[in-house]
Amino acid sequence: MNNPFAGKEVWFVTGSQHLYGPGPLRQVQANADVVAQGLAEEGNLPVDLISKPLVTTAEEITAICRLANDAPNCIGLIFWMHTFSPARMWIQGLKELQKPFLHLHTQYNRAIPWDSIDMDFMNLNQAAHGDREFGYICTRLGKSRKVVAGHWQDTAVQHKVSDWMRVAAAWQDHQQLQVARLGDNMRNVAVTEGDKTEAQIRFGYTVNGYGISELATRLQDAGASQVQALCREYDESYDLATELRPAGSRRAELEESARIELALRSFLEDNGAHAFTDTFEDLQGLSQLPGLAVQRLMAEGVGFGAEGDWKHAALLRAIKVMGFGRGGGSSFMEDYTYHLHPEQQLVLGAHMLEVCPSIAGSRPSCEIHPLGIGARSDPLRLVFTAHAGAALNATVIDSGEGFRMIVNPVQVLDPPENLPRLPVARALWKPLPDLPRASEAWILAGGAHHTAFSYDVTPEQLQDFAALAGIDFQQIGDSLIHPAKQPSRVRAAQAVALSV
Ligand code: MN
Repeated sequence: MNNPFAGKEVWFVTGSQHLYGPGPLRQVQANADVVAQGLAEEGNLPVDLISKPLVTTAEEITAICRLANDAPNCIGLIFWMHTFSPARMWIQGLKELQKPFLHLHTQYNRAIPWDSIDMDFMNLNQAAHGDREFGYICTRLGKSRKVVAGHWQDTAVQHKVSDWMRVAAAWQDHQQLQVARLGDNMRNVAVTEGDKTEAQIRFGYTVNGYGISELATRLQDAGASQVQALCREYDESYDLATELRPAGSRRAELEESARIELALRSFLEDNGAHAFTDTFEDLQGLSQLPGLAVQRLMAEGVGFGAEGDWKHAALLRAIKVMGFGRGGGSSFMEDYTYHLHPEQQLVLGAHMLEVCPSIAGSRPSCEIHPLGIGARSDPLRLVFTAHAGAALNATVIDSGEGFRMIVNPVQVLDPPENLPRLPVARALWKPLPDLPRASEAWILAGGAHHTAFSYDVTPEQLQDFAALAGIDFQQIGDSLIHPAKQPSRVRAAQAVALSV
């Protein structure tokens, strides 16, 4: 994926009023510039932070909000009330503002200057109450926003600002995301269904269906040299099974897989899609279920959901953007089977084929094996084990009354033994706080068997993302983070104790 943060910016907007006179306002502007510049230089921020002129009137506030709405490169704003800024001045601007915003509750000075503090100092540095006035009107207007409190030079504050910018970038990506569906949902499956129109209203992305022939008719488009070049890339990138190597007995099937990848790439490009689904029940014209191709596309940042699962294709795309450059990896995933040993209860996650190699612990092998379903020839796939580390599973479901996101942090472990007969990529994890409690809470909340699995994003980022969409959010396994207190038309999960 191209760097999704390139050319993007967040505007730093400081609020005040004219009561203080021109001298103090010049000081407020100078301090605001220092804070913005300091955050930009020390905060390891993914996008540019631009300090904007102070706003001191309703007209100026409304004008900057309108400018932000119309600026394609502006993915969000940071507001800070260095002094008091009467919040009725903010009503029109906030009502019109469509971009995500973070309310930074900070102060220019870190310490109180005990010897010299006087009323001039007090009046200049009053975010402690100026920001409460601003927060009140945001809450009253029902504005979804991130609030971060603390000194702007604190690493924890800078991390939160940086993480939020990644959420804002994923949100902007979602507003123009095309999710292409090749075929419909797997027949009779419930949780992969949902209201696509409501999804577009809530999340911004568009879901459109295409016949599998749109892919199949492209299979012969690629020239022999293109196919050979891609196979050489496979040779260099993976440990190929002997029969798949050049002159191997099944090299032709690898070449067919390369043709599928090239066709898929051209289909996605022509449709401007950065996320897609397919289904093993609709493969007319394809010799094998796309495995290797899907895995490689995911590794480049494309969202994917199997069996028509467009909600997780879109969610994975958002997580790929949010986690860009973090290096841990993110994948489509499925809770597959359990290890219910009394001393250690674990989940073995996998899918038929489609697990993203960005999570691989070592160089994947490229293999060919039979697939029991789909009634096609043996599909190519990358086989590997996910690396150990802290990760999470996230799901979005359509409850019938709206969307709900459920997040469960997990600890990924190295398998205690080799899995010599398992022909698919896999991840072994311990759900937090433990398997029984996590699974009980997940199932009560209606969580799907499909997830987006990631080492690169935090539950807090996903909570902020859910808040932007105005959907219900439930976290399992961390009592520190509570369900989002954001406007939601979803009925609260009745007395389900999810924060265990
Ligand atoms: Mn599945």
